[in-house]
This record gives sequence, C-alpha cells and structure tokens, in this order.
Amino acid sequence: MILTPNTEIEQLGRISEDQKKALTRLRISTVQDLLLHFPNRYGDTENALSIETLEEGTSATVYGQIEKLDTGKTWQGKVPKASARLRDETGTITITWFRQPYIARMMTEGSIVKVTGKITSHNKKLTFVNPKVEQATSIPTNAGNALFGGTTHTLYPVYPETRGITSNWIYHALQKIFSHEVHMQLTDPIPKEMLEKYNLPSLQTALIWVHTPKSEDDAYAARKRFAFQEVFLIQLKNQKERNKNAQKQSFKIAINKTRMKEFVQTFPFQLTKSQKDAIQDIVEDFASGKPMSRLLEGDVGSGKTAIAAATVFAVTDEHLQTAYMVPTEILAKQHFASFIEFFKDIPMAQQVKIGLITGSGCYKYPSKVNGEIATKISRAQLLKWIANGEIPIVIGTHSLIQKTVIFENLAYVIIDEQHRFGTVQRQKLARKDDMTPHFLSMTATPIPRTLALSIYGDLDLTIVDQMPMGRKPIITELVLPGEKNRNVVYEKLRELLREGRQAYVICPRINEPDPNKQTALNVASVKAETARLKEKVFPNWNVAMLHSKMKPDEKDKIMKQFEDNEIDVLVSTSVIEVGVNVPNATTIIIEGAERFGLSQLHQLRGRVLRSSHQAYAYLFSDTKTETSIERLKALQSAKNGFELSEFDLQFRGSGELYGKKQWGITDLGMEAIKNIKMVEFARKEAQQLLKKDPELDKHTSLQKFLEQKGEVHFE
Ligand code: ADP
Ligand code: MG
Repeated sequence: MILTPNTEIEQLGRISEDQKKALTRLRISTVQDLLLHFPNRYGDTENALSIETLEEGTSATVYGQIEKLDTGKTWQGKVPKASARLRDETGTITITWFRQPYIARMMTEGSIVKVTGKITSHNKKLTFVNPKVEQATSIPTNAGNALFGGTTHTLYPVYPETRGITSNWIYHALQKIFSHEVHMQLTDPIPKEMLEKYNLPSLQTALIWVHTPKSEDDAYAARKRFAFQEVFLIQLKNQKERNKNAQKQSFKIAINKTRMKEFVQTFPFQLTKSQKDAIQDIVEDFASGKPMSRLLEGDVGSGKTAIAAATVFAVTDEHLQTAYMVPTEILAKQHFASFIEFFKDIPMAQQVKIGLITGSGCYKYPSKVNGEIATKISRAQLLKWIANGEIPIVIGTHSLIQKTVIFENLAYVIIDEQHRFGTVQRQKLARKDDMTPHFLSMTATPIPRTLALSIYGDLDLTIVDQMPMGRKPIITELVLPGEKNRNVVYEKLRELLREGRQAYVICPRINEPDPNKQTALNVASVKAETARLKEKVFPNWNVAMLHSKMKPDEKDKIMKQFEDNEIDVLVSTSVIEVGVNVPNATTIIIEGAERFGLSQLHQLRGRVLRSSHQAYAYLFSDTKTETSIERLKALQSAKNGFELSEFDLQFRGSGELYGKKQWGITDLGMEAIKNIKMVEFARKEAQQLLKKDPELDKHTSLQKFLEQKGEVHFE
C-alpha cells in the first residue's frame, strides 16, 4: 500500500472500535492528522532498572508491560484492591493497589507503563504497593545498566491521554508512517530563508524530532519551530485581513473640538487621562477616512461607556449613525439609560434621539409627549426612523443585526463585551452599506499584550489602565491557615457589618464531597459554610446562600434581599450572577483561593469595588505549594488586571484562562505567546512577506494553510 498524508488512519492497520472512537475524539482521521498530533511531554528512562535486579526495601523505576489485571476486594472483603503483573525481558513483579481501584481501571492489559515506587515483599514475592504509574511507549532495552554504574537515558513521547488510545499505539503507528516516509510528502509552509534566519528545523526534521527526539535539545527545537509556525500563520492571516480592510473606504469624520469639549463638560465627572487618550486614538482614526478597527481593553469600572459616549457624540455631530451592540437585554437597557444621561444635557439646538432595540421591545428617547423620558414604540416605527436616519444612535442586542434593520448612514459600530459574542457579527453589521463603518470592540477581560497582538492582530489596541479618581484601592490579604488567622478576619468583618456594610463569602463548591468519589477533601462548600457561619461565626447576622442549583425565583428573592440589605453575608460559588451590583457589599472572603485562576480572583474582588467605601478581599488558602502562594501574593501587589494577566500567562501559560479554544490556539501556540520576541519576529516576517506578495501567489503552500485555518476567526 502506498501511504500518503491523506490516507485514512483506519487503513494503517487493524483498529478496534474503542480506538476508532478515541481517534475521532482527538480529531485524527488521516495520517497527516496523526503526524501533527504532538506529545505533550517526554518521559525519560534515566535510572530505570530491570525487574530481575530489584531488591526488597529499595525504591525503583521499572518499565514493563501490564498483564493479568485483576480488581476485587481484600480477603476480609472490606478494602477495594487491584493487582497486576508487570513484565519486562528479565522477569515479572506484582503490583498491588489498595483503595485505588480506579488506577487499575485506567489501565489495560498490554499497555506499557513506567512504574515508580517502593518494593516490599509479600509471601516472599516482590511487590510494588500503590506505586506511581505512568504511560510509556516502549520498554528501554538497556534498562538495568544503571546497576553497573552506567545510566540509561532515552526520551520517549507521552501523548495527551484519552481512553482507548495508548501512547504506545500512537508511537508505533508513527513509526510505520515514518518508515513509509510519508512526512517527506508534506510541503513546508515556512519559507526556507526564514527557517535559516531563525535557525529552525525543516518540517520533516521537526516532525521526526517532535515524535522521536534523540535529545531534549531536538525536542525543544522541534517545538519551537511549530510554535513559530503557529504564531506566524496567525499573524499572516491577521495582517492580510488588516491590509484588506485598509483598502476600504470609510466615513471621514471631522472633529469639532470645541463642541466635543462642551459635551464632555456636561459629564458628572472629569475624564481620566486614560479615557482622554482613548478618545484621542478613536477620533484620529475617524479623521483618517479609513475604517477604524480598534480594540478597547479596560478593567471593569474603568469607564469605557463614557469613552463610547464621547466618540458617539462626534459621529452624531456629523449627522451620521451609530450602532451599539451589547450581549444581553439587561445590559442594553442599562446602556440606553446611561446614554440618555450622557446626551440629555447636550448643548445643541436639537435633542439627540436614541433608540433601543431588543427581542422584547423597542424604545425611543425622547418621548414626543414628555421630552424627559423614553417611550415604547413599535418595531416597525423604530426601523423606519433608523432607515431614514432620524435616529442617530441605536443601542441593542443581537436584534441589531437582523436583515430588517437598515441604516441610512451607519458610520460607527461599537460592540461591548466583545468576548461574549461569536465572531461573524461584525461582518454582518458592516455590510449594511457600501462604506465600511468604523469599528470599536470593547472588552473588560484583561489580556496580556503579546496575546492581544497575536489573536487580535488585525485590530489596533487601546488600553485603559487607569481607574476613575476617588476609588480607594482594594486591600487584598492572603490569610494563612490557622484558627487564629481566621478569627482576626471574622472580627474585622463583624466590625464592618456593624457599620452597616455587607459581605460575600465565596466557596469552591456547592455540596460536601461525595466520600465515594476521588475528590479533594477540606474544601469549603457553600452549604456547609453557610451553616457554620450562621451558627458559629455570625450568629447575630443574617447569613444566606446563593448557588446555581437553586430555582430561579429563589435566586431572585435572595438577590433582592441582599440588594435591600436584609442579608448581611451572602455565601456563594464563584458564579455570582453576572451584573450583581451591590455597592454596599465591600468585603469578599474567598475560601480555597488557590483553586481559582488569577483572572477569576481579580474579577471576583471587582464585585466589592463599587463605592467609595474601603473594600477588602481576604484570600483563605491552605496551600503549602510555593508557586500557589506566590500566585496569590501577586494578587496583593498587582495594580490592575493587565499586570495580573501577564503574571498569570508566565506562571501557568494557561489556555484555559483565556479560552484558547475560542481562538483556536493550541497549547504549543499558547506557550509561544509567552515569548514576546517570537511574537514580534513572526509579526514582522508576516508584514514583510505580505508587502512582497500581498495575495501569497508566490507562496501557495502558505495560502493553502491559511485556507485550512479559515474556520477560525480572530476578532
Ligand atoms: P466599564 O469600563 O466597566 O464599562 P463603566 O463605563 O460602566 O465602566 O463605568 C463605571 C462607573 O464609573 C460608572 O458609574 C461611570 O459613571 C463611572 N465613571 C466613568 N468614568 C469616570 C470618571 N472619569 N470619574 C468618575 N467616575 C467615572
Ligand atoms: Mg461596560
């Protein structure tokens, strides 16, 4: 059989139903898919021993094949027990697991494993009891040499584990693929000069190195190459998008500085410098005549709405229209109300009209009868006024992008909380006209600059990194374990409660752990903590709980009582409803703080930053791990969400934090993004390449790669 990159995996050899399912789960259907399925780490056979050399009372690492798996109970019938035989070329040894039957369940007979643990003797037979077991790909043949002074040192790949497919299987399938030289049939998307310039291995070499490295250096070089490739391709796609955009025409909006100043002076506060700079960025884009594509990043509460309002004014002042899209109906109404506040004192002969369009109804401000308030109007009426340009500002939910909503001259599109939208909306809105409207995307999710540059490379970036004046910085304290430490916090909280303030207590889970499941103990649950606080800590205060498993009307009732200050302490999981806004709640206690991501902790403490009262966040944690403690301490010192997200990225690299799935970035790409130099190189190379070959006509393999990446939209 001739193997090609497109050969179906099933044609490679016999495949069981379980394996087939596992491959589907991993989205591997062809030989090429398997070649591009990378190990997530490498094992090392250093210091491995052969079975015949094992001695009672020592600790050792052994490689072998699992045979005779057996699960049951001990002969007294109480304790779950599992056993297996482990075989290598030199002999066998028993493995016994007490109270850990799930470990045995994770294994199958025939799998190759690495076993590390202490060797004891049972009925004169040597046994591993509850050892550490990891998947391996092959039994190193020279194991045992360590005994004679030499160390063996071979790397083997370990692939992300999924039921049905062992690393061993993948390893051997790849051996077959390599021996048929399928990898030689692939075209390298990265130009040769670029590989040379950055000293990166070719695609062919990198594939061999990533799957069967001879040394750590090889493995590293291969991963570096694929990381570069990923970042480069993302950049190329974004830059291409950006170039395309730059050729379009947009409204050239001249700014009347005096009038804008007058407008901003009607605000009930002074703009921060950050807000002024952001407004400046945006109006400069307006004046260029090219469509703006800008991302505005600013922590919750940094005042993005005021920035939006000031820039919308500039558009309105030129008799052009703005569409302001937000993800939920509640937010749409809230913004409609704030915009009325911003625009009601406008120093203009004519009052500015504002429309609201949501799934459940339409409103217009001002009312004809009473110029002070908004009135409900029919959808048809609102659409008519949008179409003839009479209403310059339209705020709404997804309803804004329906085909029936046609603007007379849409010049400005704002999307708030853009991370909560899908990706296609912008195009839909933008295509309502021959002209491309200016586009502003706003988000409160702090994203490190390198990441933003990568995933939002087609957008310009403005960061609002200053909070309005008068907000006292929150006092964050890491509270180490111990009854005494807790009591100090509780005493302080009682004092604040006496002053009339309220508090949140956040727990990592709702219920007590199920003793039959393998879950961590000693983590506070909402239910148990509510009972404990009520009885032992705050007997004189009203303590209540709120969690996602409660009925909606029950939740509403609790929320209402908390808002009305009838509840003093609210115990909840981290999913406190979006939009919770109780300025009088100024303290938050977070139990098991090490279990939350830094960004999440930051968002949580943002809940108590809504008034001029001093706010407090107490992080309770039993962790003894130094890195965990360091992470939590970062929260004490970080000035804002951005500093924190940088720290988080360095520390855990973690895709799960920023939802890499949403952006289609692999773990490897995430890893790469930590490296600002690499991102900048990739960006520069992409720019230069497109300058010489805008449509990539001379780089067809790159063109093809981008088409495959087409389904991912980085906006
Ligand atoms: P976000 O950036 O989270 O959208 P908002 O625009 O909702 O923040 O603003 C949060 C609050 O801060 C609002 O009540 C707003 O009126 C107020 N605010 C905005 N800018 C300033 C400022 N420069 N000084 C004082 N308060 C401000
Ligand atoms: Mg906002």
